[in-house]
Amino acid sequence: MRFASLGSGSKGNATLIEAGDVRVLVDCGFAAKELEKRLAELAVDPATLTAILVTHEHGDHIRGVGPVARRYQVPVWMTAGTLKTDRCGQLSELNLINCHAGNFTIGGLEVTPFPVPHDAREPCQFSFVHGGRCFTLLTDLGQVTPHIMQEVARCDVLLLECNHDLDMLANGPYPPRLQARVSGTFGHLSNCQATELLLQIESSKLSHLVVAHLSQQNNSPERVRETILKSLPELGDRLTVAQQNGVSEWFEC
Ligand SMILES: [Zn+2]
Ligand SMILES: [Zn+2]
Repeated sequence: MRFASLGSGSKGNATLIEAGDVRVLVDCGFAAKELEKRLAELAVDPATLTAILVTHEHGDHIRGVGPVARRYQVPVWMTAGTLKTDRCGQLSELNLINCHAGNFTIGGLEVTPFPVPHDAREPCQFSFVHGGRCFTLLTDLGQVTPHIMQEVARCDVLLLECNHDLDMLANGPYPPRLQARVSGTFGHLSNCQATELLLQIESSKLSHLVVAHLSQQNNSPERVRETILKSLPELGDRLTVAQQNGVSEWFEC
């Protein structure tokens, strides 16, 4: 199994996971044309996508889902709550995700959806298991729950939100109401919250950590690295910051 970030941040998110002959796209916050361009950088033909999984209905995750699914006849998976917000238009194949029913498989890829606290109708995130390895994707959450800790504790590779630095948010351009939303329990994870999560798991087991969904106003890659590595210096050579404007390399799980 391997994965790549096609871009991450408040202007658009998409992650590609490949396992055997299965290719799953998680979220498509980019317009169809932009997604095609980014997939081309990895030499991936969008017509070969097996499925699109949607975490929630915010535009930075769902913008291109309908257009890409229609253009390439890709089945889409989402929760009933996300579907209810009706952001994708007509879909030729739709599968509902039940976060409380355990895992399901797409081809040979095992997918475990789990609920997260975020200000959307029924947001979820995912773990993927293939060949005995587990990759967990965790962005867009305001706080870490015991259930999330259970899920993260088993992963070998983690893509983790580091949305904002608390000082930069407090002294930045956002009005107080937006600051409260971002740092609230249904908002986004701060660098400190992400570091606390990492301190609670056996992070020495992580073969790679990709940090994602950085705010362009209230965070910086340097600040993220500094915060995490102050507590966990051993992660230094296994830490990558996902970019908003660029496609990452492939990360082997
Ligand atoms: Zn988001
Ligand atoms: Zn969101």
